[in-house]
Amino acid sequence: MFDIASIFVLGGYLFSKFIQPLTYEQGILLSNRTIAQNVQELVVKLPRSSRIELLAGDYIFLAFPDYPGLKEMHPFSIANVPSKNREIELAIRGDGDFTKALTQVTAESRVNIDGGYGRYQKFLDDQPQNSNIVILAGGIGVTPLLSTIEANEKRNIQIFYTAHHQADLLYLDRFKNWQQRPNFQAYIQVGRFQDTQVLNELPKDWQHNTVFLIGGPSSMMHHWVKCLKRNGAGNGQIYFEEFSW
Ligand SMILES: Cc1cc2nc3c(=O)[nH]c(=O)nc-3n(C[C@H](O)[C@H](O)[C@H](O)COP(=O)(O)OP(=O)(O)OC[C@H]3O[C@@H](n4cnc5c(N)ncnc54)[C@H](O)[C@@H]3O)c2cc1C
Repeated sequence: MFDIASIFVLGGYLFSKFIQPLTYEQGILLSNRTIAQNVQELVVKLPRSSRIELLAGDYIFLAFPDYPGLKEMHPFSIANVPSKNREIELAIRGDGDFTKALTQVTAESRVNIDGGYGRYQKFLDDQPQNSNIVILAGGIGVTPLLSTIEANEKRNIQIFYTAHHQADLLYLDRFKNWQQRPNFQAYIQVGRFQDTQVLNELPKDWQHNTVFLIGGPSSMMHHWVKCLKRNGAGNGQIYFEEFSW
């Protein structure tokens, strides 16, 4: 028994160490800049021959093979709509060894990429296309939902976006542009939203015509799932992805 288990463990290790890396694509870092305290924006160019298919809200795994400490693949969401120019924008908060070390990475560095993963857009595509979209976003958890807003221009979208400090609110210029759309409403504030603040602003009859996308700290996401369900939301109306792995 022990021997079989050991073979599986060893097999898994050898696969992840030697076989899986062969499937990674290699891109180039175009730019790396600080966009808020402890948050770096990385723009990565996929290779011309890329087979990676990305939908809005997806995430990729990436690593920098030429930097010690940055060789292990880590997951990050895309903040833009993947387009024909093959450029991926990422907004990454320095939480630990890998993410804090990203400040040293310079343009033109090689990037290993694996993906895309995620289901935000697939979830939306599976719902009635005339349903309203309500987004509840906290802190760095807004990242995948930025690309969702960009990609779903024709849909009615409301977003409630919060961060701990004013300086942590990302991409406010994008929100300013989106607010020109007749079907987009953003409520942005420092500190958490009260339940009633959100519930009072939801579309009329939201229990039957609205889907909810949530991104943020685990406790925040679970709070809103509970709150929405308590007020009549069905399971199939809510979708979120955890940032922990
Ligand atoms: C699907 C997915 C999408 C993601 N997208 C993004 C993104 O767009 N931008 C971004 O900044 N991050 C994102 N993350 C989180 C990111 O992958 C991690 O923060 C990163 O891999 C941590 O690596 P590290 O070595 O820097 O930190 P570690 O050394 O692994 O962690 C350092 C410390 O921070 C804590 N910590 C680290 N990450 C988290 C976390 N996610 N939640 C709570 N505590 C944490 C750990 O408990 C630990 O104490 C995403 C994660 C997933 C699963």
